[in-house]
Amino acid sequence: MGGVVSAGAGLLAAAVAPVLMAGALVGGLAGGLAGGGSAGQAPLPLAGRTVVLDPGHNPGNSTHLAEISRLVDVGNGRKACNTTGTATAGGYTEAEFNLDVARRAGTILRAEGARVVFTQNGDRAWGPCVDERAAIATRAHADAAVSIHADGAPPDGYGFHVILPATVVAGAADTRPIVAPSRELGLALRSAYSSATGEARSTYLGEGTALVVRSDLGGLNLSTVPAVFIECGNMANPADAGRMTTPAWRESAAQGIAAGISSYLARPSR
Ligand SMILES: [Zn+2]
Repeated sequence: MGGVVSAGAGLLAAAVAPVLMAGALVGGLAGGLAGGGSAGQAPLPLAGRTVVLDPGHNPGNSTHLAEISRLVDVGNGRKACNTTGTATAGGYTEAEFNLDVARRAGTILRAEGARVVFTQNGDRAWGPCVDERAAIATRAHADAAVSIHADGAPPDGYGFHVILPATVVAGAADTRPIVAPSRELGLALRSAYSSATGEARSTYLGEGTALVVRSDLGGLNLSTVPAVFIECGNMANPADAGRMTTPAWRESAAQGIAAGISSYLARPSR
């Protein structure tokens, strides 16, 4: 509009302004409902996407050994419902680590608009069993599922690795539809996690690739959605343990995991 405004135009502007403002308000509310964003902003990048975060084990498992020892069907065999996980030499447990990193990652992903579903979030005494963890992701219609763990390997080894599902067709397991997208998810996670944390690729598994394919994990065998595990580091290694017991480093780990998931979901094919 030019610099000269007649008295008539000014009156017209005053008359329509409330209507425009009401329109903007309605539009902003609609945008917020659709995309989770605030008024006037583009939808959040993960709006409409569902991510399952699976904090491995459960801090309560160690006092429910009978319950977690029950065998469950993982398609190509039977395995313990769940295990206690490992710990640092100083007694910081893997279950606590996994839960803390998952919660931090969940906060980041929700801020990006994702619906985040936890398999457990300190809200149950033990478990769930590995088969139930996979079923939770199926029921949630998740676009991606990431199990968060820390390893208990020989102390001279260090670094992280990502576990990808092998092709397993046995009993209730059929990973054929998820092998390829899970690999994409794993590669995105490897890249983002490495950038965010500076953590080395595992020196003891994966031959420098930080990737391991496994057919013995119920959480992967029974998954119907793209799924990987990340072993964030080796708790038995003093240097890794030093990082993993540092809250700021766990925040970096969570940022890396969230960024890897976001990058995977941002692909046009997803
Ligand atoms: Zn674990």
